[in-house]
Amino acid sequence: MNPSPPLTDSFGRPIDYLRISVTERCDLRCAYCHPPTPPRATPPDLLTPQDIVNLSAAALRLGLRRIRLTGGEPLLRGDLEEIIARLRDLPDLQDLALTTNGQRLAPKAAGLARAGLMRINISLDSLDPQAYALTTGGGDVAAVRRGIQAALSSGLAPVKLNVVLASSAALDRAGIPAFLDFVRSRPVHLRFIEAMPTCSHVEYLPARRVLEFLSRRHHLHTVPGPDGGGPARYHRIDGFRGTIGFITPISEPFCAHCNRLRISARGELRPCLFSPESFDLLPALRGPDPAHHLISSLERAAAAKPRCYGDVAQPSGVPAMHVIGG
Ligand code: SAM
Repeated sequence: MNPSPPLTDSFGRPIDYLRISVTERCDLRCAYCHPPTPPRATPPDLLTPQDIVNLSAAALRLGLRRIRLTGGEPLLRGDLEEIIARLRDLPDLQDLALTTNGQRLAPKAAGLARAGLMRINISLDSLDPQAYALTTGGGDVAAVRRGIQAALSSGLAPVKLNVVLASSAALDRAGIPAFLDFVRSRPVHLRFIEAMPTCSHVEYLPARRVLEFLSRRHHLHTVPGPDGGGPARYHRIDGFRGTIGFITPISEPFCAHCNRLRISARGELRPCLFSPESFDLLPALRGPDPAHHLISSLERAAAAKPRCYGDVAQPSGVPAMHVIGG
């Protein structure tokens, strides 16, 4: 039987990509991601491995082909390898990726790859130990560096690194040259990301400022992105093993090519990061015939996708990224 064609939204965009937040818990407190006040209690992980398999199977039946597991911090889940292995058993899945802060990655990368993870995005907001600890609320950048090395050695590819431009630390004169040195000698894809206005405090720094800084010092060749597509635009510098990319949701929104739906760790399906509406999937997951109800919710969410996030964004922002899943 031929696989189904991708689901299409009401603006004709093919929807083939599902992001699932597997936990709200996180071991870091990045200023741009978490609200300033800490949660009173540790939220439970509501989605079971079977829920995540059911959600993914429904999405694949509708023609979605790519799944990313995110959070919160996915590596806090002890059953992550089981989830990955069960997703890889699903027919028609073409791409299975993970986003992590890398704090716990070094000892786990090989097991994740063995379980069937294909590629990985790792957050790395600064290479300077003090600046990194400040931005992340106490993170250890040396652990992330070991995690990146372990991901490369385990054959996870491509390895993409996310630098959110939410603090001047990422832009200061010492920051960018250090990132350049890092990319010079490693086959990684470093992306500078403009911070989205979530409920957390974010300082908007246009990616253009980094691009101008780099262009004054190096000749940048525009290159196609590594496998997996996505909204980043990449550049290569002669002699460098890695590439440098820019993701510009604020200065140059890429909604016209949006291909994704998101499921939060609370089991809410969101048509768009900024949608005021979401669809509660827990009743369907816990009720009889989950497949039928999940498929209908996914279709309704695709139909509810706005043309552009600017059409629906509320002045108060959206729930924090660690809840929705970045
Ligand atoms: N804990 C994992 C991590 O740190 O990568 C996964 C979850 S985190 C929410 C995933 C990604 O969300 C981060 O790499 C970061 O790029 C992105 N993110 C979070 N808040 C953001 C914001 N306000 N604007 C843009 N990107 C954001």
